[in-house]
Amino acid sequence: MSRGKLFVVSGPSGVGKGTVCQALLENRDDLFLSVSATTRAPRPGEENGVHYWFLSKEEFQDRVEHDQFLEWATFCENCYGTPRSKVEEKLDAGQNVLLEIEPQGALQVKERLPESVLLFVLPPSLQELRQRLIGRGTEDASVVEQRLCRAREEFQFIPKYDYVLINDEIPKAVERFAHILEVENYRTKNSQEIIDEVLKL
Ligand code: 5GP
Repeated sequence: MSRGKLFVVSGPSGVGKGTVCQALLENRDDLFLSVSATTRAPRPGEENGVHYWFLSKEEFQDRVEHDQFLEWATFCENCYGTPRSKVEEKLDAGQNVLLEIEPQGALQVKERLPESVLLFVLPPSLQELRQRLIGRGTEDASVVEQRLCRAREEFQFIPKYDYVLINDEIPKAVERFAHILEVENYRTKNSQEIIDEVLKL
């Protein structure tokens, strides 16, 4: 059985990458979304083990020291990390895995697993990004500014990504995302089984 593919999605805070990923996942069972660990406090409605594994700083640090994260990074004063064992288990079982993480983490993943596919979600404009972040109402004004400032830093990493996805409208962005997943299947390195089948005597 061939190993699953790892898709890594990044994009500025408020761009709607979570919504796009959730909408994509609704229509397919061939993709597993990794639940990250974080030291950030839960937002209203967020559940432990569903949206994140909410950890204390000490618990997070302990996992870093035991090399339990595939990658981890600090974002706006909180730590975020991808639990390694679950991702490896799914990939080994031939399942595709989706990570929704910021660029420092995405680049760590690319270094460790160069065959991973990196996608960057962009808003249709920066004005629209600001409006979405304010409209979301989950952060106060200073955190909104901090996240916009961080967004500008993140844009510098775009050239390191394999694909760019504009999130102007959710259904369109989901459709583009699905096309990317489809196209990845046709890469020569992902087609060995079919090549062997066709060329067998
Ligand atoms: P939020 O606090 O808005 O849920 O997430 C803040 C940022 O952290 C987002 O860009 C999100 O994609 C990123 N993030 C979430 N989980 C992880 C993770 O496991 N690792 C890294 N590096 N970033 C993450």
